[in-house]
Parts: sequence; structure tokens; C-alpha cells
Amino acid sequence: MSTEASAVEAPEIVVVGSANIDTVIRVPRLPTPGETVLGTSVTEFVGGKGANQAVAAARLGRRVSLVGLVGEDAGGAVVRDALRAEGVDTANLRPRAGTSTGIAMIQVDDEGENTVTVVPGANAELDAERVRASELALREARITVLQFEISDEAVVEAVRLAGGTVILNPSPVRPVPGAVMDRVDVLIVNRSELALLAGAPEPATTELAAELAAGVEGPAAVVVTLGADGAVLVRPGGVVVVPAVPVEAVVDPTGAGDTFCGALADALVRGEDLAAAVRWAVRAAAVAVTGPGAQSAMPTRERVLAGAS
Ligand code: ATP
Repeated sequence: MSTEASAVEAPEIVVVGSANIDTVIRVPRLPTPGETVLGTSVTEFVGGKGANQAVAAARLGRRVSLVGLVGEDAGGAVVRDALRAEGVDTANLRPRAGTSTGIAMIQVDDEGENTVTVVPGANAELDAERVRASELALREARITVLQFEISDEAVVEAVRLAGGTVILNPSPVRPVPGAVMDRVDVLIVNRSELALLAGAPEPATTELAAELAAGVEGPAAVVVTLGADGAVLVRPGGVVVVPAVPVEAVVDPTGAGDTFCGALADALVRGEDLAAAVRWAVRAAAVAVTGPGAQSAMPTRERVLAGAS
């Protein structure tokens, strides 16, 4: 491959994160301990916040590479094939012997109640050394996107190597190492994540969320996603409130947050300023809530431009 060709194909966005096989079993009702219940269907999806955010950005037209680990098993092959079909570069998604691809086992009953068991498997094995193996991609990418379904060690190393803008979506939430926070350009949190990081009750209003976000030390900017209330951007220059795009019916909000993160990264690569990027992410996430599933509901650029309905 010539230098020119590899430069053309270099990823604009590097996502460092998890990839899972999500298995959804429909049951008439959830089994109690010791009980066997007959399920009515089983469906497999590729999930994990890393894979989801990578797909969200790729579907919007970005060149994306996912840094992560899968097992040397059938699930790993399914994940890789699915991501490639979405145009996500999987050169940095490596198989690891002796562990399984991350899985989520989800049982959903007729009332929509669910139980979820997650086995992180290979995702938990992503270490600093493996992240360093993707150093060139991390140094050259315009944006590095991280979530918390991987170890602190991997997050710290990715942030250290990132040459561009760092977006952190600390979900599932846990304390963020100080050295990481200081290097974060955009922290994206929902209400409950913000509350946990700030050590305060969940903010009931947009104003309270903005106040809490202003107190988070380290990141250059904080974006709080507020579900049906949209999002608020808090940075030294001021506060920007972006109301949600109204939708006719919410079909499934799963993956709205991941769509938001991927779309925000997409807009920043296209040179939008942060406020415009948040507006774009709110539009993309509105479309995502109008369809079932996570990745299956993530919109293309044309779909976002057409608007949610
Ligand atoms: P999830 O975990 O379900 O992916 P989240 O808790 O990370 O979501 P939310 O704040 O619930 O994130 O949603 C992300 C974004 O999706 C919001 O900022 C908003 O722009 C959009 N959104 C969510 N719910 C709605 C809704 N009912 N109508 C329109 N937009 C919505």
C-alpha cells in the first residue's frame, strides 16, 4: 500500500471500547430463581458501547477504526463481520486467545421488563500494551472516543496517545482518573452519570444540570444529555441549551446516547464548532429513538437531514 493510499484511508475517528454479542430472549415472564421458562424467540445483535459509537459515526459517513478485543470464537467473527459491513475498520479489533467475546444476555418479558447479564470477556482484557499497538491511529486521528466498558488502564493509555480531540463518555459510570479528566476535551454524560461524578442528586432541570456540569473539574467542555429534554453544553464561554427534536413516538430509546456520541464526533470531524455539533447530535439521537434496537436505529446522514418523525 502506498503512503498516499494509507493517508487517504487513515481513520478520522478512533473509538477505543467494547464490542459484544447481545442475545435477546423473549419470554412470557421472567423466570424466578430455580425456575425454567420457555422462551418464544432469540435474536442476536452486535452491541457494546464501543461498537455502537463506532457504527453511529460510520453510518454518518466518517472513517472510523475500533480499538478493542474479541475472543477467538464465533462471536468474535460475527462482531468483526458486522462492523466491516458497516464500513468500520477492524484492523485494531484483535482476537485474544483464552477469553470469550463479550456478551450480554437479555431476557425481556411481555411487560417489557428485563434482566441483563453481561460477561465482559475480552473487553476486560484490553490493556495498555494492546492500546499502544494502535498508537499510530490514535496519534493521527482527529477524534478519539472512549467509554467505560474497558479498564482504566486502557483509557489512560488511549488518552495519553491521542493526538486529536478526546471525547469521553464515562458509561457505565465510575470515578474518572484525574489524569484522564484533565486531557478530556468533551465529557458526555447523562443525568445520572453527571450526578454520580459530581456527588450530587440527579439534576431535575436543565438549569441544575448546567450548574452541576460547570462544577466538574478537568474537561474543557461538558455535554449533558437529558433524554426528552435534549442536551446542554457547558464550557468556559457559556451555556448552550439544545432542546430535543420532538418525535411522534418513541419506539426504543436504547442506543440514543451512543448515537449522540458518534454524531457529535462526526460533526467535529466535519469542522463544526461544539455548539453546532451538539445540535447535530440531538437531531441524530432523535431519529435513533424512533426505531427499535441500538445499531439498527442509528441514522445515516440523509436520514438525519430528513428529520425525525
Ligand atoms: P441510552 O442509555 O438509552 O442510550 P442515555 O441515557 O445515554 O441513553 P439520553 O440522555 O437518554 O442518553 O438520550 C441521549 C439523547 O437522545 C438526548 O440528549 C436527546 O437528544 C435524544 N433523546 C432521548 N430521548 C428522546 C426523546 N424522547 N425525544 C427526542 N430525543 C430524545
